[in-house]
Amino acid sequence: MMTFRPIALTLISAMGLALTSCSPGSTPDGEADTHMVQSVIPAERFFTADQFTYANHQEVIVSHADLDLDVNFNRKVLDGAVTLAFERLAPEAQTLTLDTKDLLIKAVALQTQDGWTPADYTLADADPVLGSAMTINIGSEASQLRIIYETSPSAEGLQWLSPAQTAGKEKPYLFSQAQAIHARTMLPIQDTPAVRLTYSANLRVPEGLLPLMSASQDGQSEDGSYSFSMPQPIPSYLIAIAVGDIKFKAINDTIGVYAEEYILDASAEEFAETPQMEVVNTALYGPYRWGRYDLIVLPPSFPYGGMENPRLSFMTPTLIAGDKSLTNVVAHELAHSWSGNLVTNSNWRDAWLNEGFTSYVENRVMEELYGERRAVMEQVLDMEGMKRAISEAKRPELTHLKLPDDMAHPDEAFTLVSYIKGANFLFFLEDRFGREKFDPFLRNWFNDYAFESVTTEDFLSFLHENLHKDNPDALTRAELDAWVYGPGLPDTARKPVSDAFDEVAGLSARWENGEISASGLPTKNWSTHEWLHFLNGLPELTRAQYKDLDDAFSLTGTQNAETAFAWYMQAIKGGYEAAYPALEEFLMTVGRGKFIYRLYGALKDNGQAEMANRIFAEAKAGYHPIAQRRISATLSE
Ligand SMILES: [Zn+2]
Repeated sequence: MMTFRPIALTLISAMGLALTSCSPGSTPDGEADTHMVQSVIPAERFFTADQFTYANHQEVIVSHADLDLDVNFNRKVLDGAVTLAFERLAPEAQTLTLDTKDLLIKAVALQTQDGWTPADYTLADADPVLGSAMTINIGSEASQLRIIYETSPSAEGLQWLSPAQTAGKEKPYLFSQAQAIHARTMLPIQDTPAVRLTYSANLRVPEGLLPLMSASQDGQSEDGSYSFSMPQPIPSYLIAIAVGDIKFKAINDTIGVYAEEYILDASAEEFAETPQMEVVNTALYGPYRWGRYDLIVLPPSFPYGGMENPRLSFMTPTLIAGDKSLTNVVAHELAHSWSGNLVTNSNWRDAWLNEGFTSYVENRVMEELYGERRAVMEQVLDMEGMKRAISEAKRPELTHLKLPDDMAHPDEAFTLVSYIKGANFLFFLEDRFGREKFDPFLRNWFNDYAFESVTTEDFLSFLHENLHKDNPDALTRAELDAWVYGPGLPDTARKPVSDAFDEVAGLSARWENGEISASGLPTKNWSTHEWLHFLNGLPELTRAQYKDLDDAFSLTGTQNAETAFAWYMQAIKGGYEAAYPALEEFLMTVGRGKFIYRLYGALKDNGQAEMANRIFAEAKAGYHPIAQRRISATLSE
């Protein structure tokens, strides 16, 4: 799929040269490579071409996209034009190759001395994952081109909701999800995180609807269209749009919440501590560089907990628990303003640079704000999830931090391996070097690579130069390699112990033995975390035991989505049918992948495939295309 071009080879060999210049032997004590971070890493590990793009970005790079679009709810398409500004890195380059998927291309023009003139282009046959390469003849002078196009009603990156699928039931809704490679279903673009670009947009929407983008919301002009500008260069997967009957509520002068009316006040209340999170994040890792930080609470079909679209994180309504117990997801999306959005993985093979760093920063912020007790509980819960992800991995290479070069789809990079093994690698480094050294080191990483796209090997080099070189005894090459290039969880991992959870486990055992009844469990002060630990740790129960718990705590039908999920997983495992109607209701109203993928999987694995298929057939229309695809695959396996 990727063809090597001379410039790419030059880049790769230049990287190789830089590496050999700090080869073994440069250590003062001649101890060669035991302490050297990057010297003996095989050259192939530095090969970082993105297998999921057709873009020839080593030759010509798109630096700005200006969108001018009608948001057409009747036809479920974005219809209009994009003007792309580009720069030639290879002076002789005469073609620009873009990623497209399911786009209807109507015309292409180049800006030349004679004004806009039609350009020659070709659209290759579509690959089911990657879409179609669009190659445009750009001549040798032009630096701007315009593409007139429209999206497909079934664009993977866009979900068009009918009024009935929203809470207000009166107006339609549109939201996008470009990560990992769906930006190409929204516009023709170099859809790789290796390329950063600025963007601006002009959107026309039906009366009564408000459009928002991952950009500065520049307001409405006299003709009724809305303008947006993103002056900081971002990767394409952070281009985002939401349109609906959306209202705004400020939390402070620079932070606020957008949501449908029904959930606006509750959302602002739930996320009231976001300003403190920003203060803590800034104190630890340097300034917030994006202007405003707002959150938008999307309709329930949003398939993720959150998406870190810059200036405007997209959030699931399942976080609105009423007690701020699930706001670590806000800490997570906000943390992406440093890790991911500011310093970006240049390839999905390096996804841990986004997600592992962010999960680490999230936990540090939670510790600062809520104390070690809560932070450690979250570490333990995360660790349990990660161990399951490792055990479920289709092949060992998918449990490496540096992921293999033959992933079938970049979605394979978004497992708890990238998130939690990644975070634990940073815990390991923090423990070995100490916070007093590690915190300023990370701060410098975010500062030195701000607005750049980087690889795992860039990080290892930076680690070597800025921390390890002067503290060579802190860790060995073998330990480092085990984390980055080895499978599973290394035995050097931190082993978090939560006293709170130990207490829960002790009480749970006494209840299981029949020493105390469920109503005798002292759960009054349990947080959601303690509930999750309790529920996740339950062995197979008798029908009477399920009923005992349910009668005491009304777990069936609970409004806390995390607790509900944990309980329904147990109910499915034990065949506790009294919970099934509420479980069905949950699957009909919640579209967050974290919950529904495993619930459908559990139903299928526990002899309830028929029920799973029946509910899915009915619930499907309310799920995001990404979720539909994934659940269809699970149920047909
Ligand atoms: Zn994330």
